[in-house]
Amino acid sequence: MDLVRMTRLWRDSRALRRREWQDPGAYRDLVTARLRDVVHLAATRVPHYRELFREAGVRPDDVHGPEDLAALPITTNRALRDLPREAVTVDGSDFDALYDKWSSGSTGVTLHTWVTPHERDVQALNALRVFHAGGYRARDVLLDLLEPYAPKPRAIERLGLYRKHYIELKEDLADHTDAINRMRPDVVLASATLLDLLCDHAESGALTVRPRLVFNTGERIAPRQRERAKALLGTAPIDVYGASEFGPIAFQCAERDGYHINADGLIVDIVDPATGRPVPPGTVGQVVITGLLGRVMPFIRYSVGDLAALRPGRCACGRGLPLLESVQGRLIDMLLTADGTKVSPWGPTIVLEETPGVDRYQLVQDAPGALLVRIEGGPVDEADVTARLRALLGGTLAVRFEYPDSLTAEGRHKFRLVVNRCAPPSTGA
Ligand SMILES: [Zn+2]
Repeated sequence: MDLVRMTRLWRDSRALRRREWQDPGAYRDLVTARLRDVVHLAATRVPHYRELFREAGVRPDDVHGPEDLAALPITTNRALRDLPREAVTVDGSDFDALYDKWSSGSTGVTLHTWVTPHERDVQALNALRVFHAGGYRARDVLLDLLEPYAPKPRAIERLGLYRKHYIELKEDLADHTDAINRMRPDVVLASATLLDLLCDHAESGALTVRPRLVFNTGERIAPRQRERAKALLGTAPIDVYGASEFGPIAFQCAERDGYHINADGLIVDIVDPATGRPVPPGTVGQVVITGLLGRVMPFIRYSVGDLAALRPGRCACGRGLPLLESVQGRLIDMLLTADGTKVSPWGPTIVLEETPGVDRYQLVQDAPGALLVRIEGGPVDEADVTARLRALLGGTLAVRFEYPDSLTAEGRHKFRLVVNRCAPPSTGA
């Protein structure tokens, strides 16, 4: 790592730690300056936003602060997904020099997000802020169950700092319980369904680890899942609310009560879905985010597909970062093989994420060992997708494909990426 990058990271991390405890009023000028920069960049150099600003009759200079954002329309991952990358990124971007992150978020629509190496560093620093707030220490061994592909170890791990182990998202945890026992992780990073599977293995005696901290991210966790994890893994999970477009958005601290918003890196608006206007604290609304740091692919008034409410007042921990009351993130169910074995839904979601021609998808299970794949877009290579799903869910898996014109949420309920109708739902409070 070069000296310039290290110095910059050091400076950024000190500033992040300082602002964590400050009242947001103390860095309001910083937020305003960052917002004006990103709005100006988007409105002048990103074709998608140039068009949006023009249609809304808003000039970049009209946006003086966060309160002026409401004049702009809300944009969705669906809208961005349908556009070529040149339309959603700063003109002249050199894609070979950028990182591509992808995820379907809550909505089943795969979106590629382009970030600079520096932006990736800053997202990593934000993740560190989140972990430290929960009680993570530099000497801890962290087991990360959420990466589709495990990255190489970083240089810092050779010093015994920030050591990480991975079990890739598409792997079956049942095959790795011995390895996890040997790792003896202090900290586990997982999602609600994966925590449920870990609890199953702890209950059967296959898993014997008692991590000091467990972080849940990427899915809404039900109260009974939380209680079960506390009983079987020895610690109550700490929720982190994030999206691949931004990294961590809001997080529980060790108090596990409310979610601190990373308010120096993004602006979270909670709005009425019908009008786009802000709702009062305590009222559940649509989460709309404006990223303050994106310099390649800005996100302005971007709906991540989740619901949440703002909470007035301060957390008992003393941090100044403002709070969300609740986050109703992604709802995702466990899948079942023909013999009733529970399988993480994440492997199958990666299969769909990586299938060309899929605009949006949903996985529905009505019987163990059977799967309905609903795809907007397509048609896809069904034999190939079936073979890849069978590798995860058993060789006898019966797969049906359906190509509806549009996949939308059922009634007033949130869109469910993976729905299991044949077992008691594994999530949903
Ligand atoms: Zn707190």
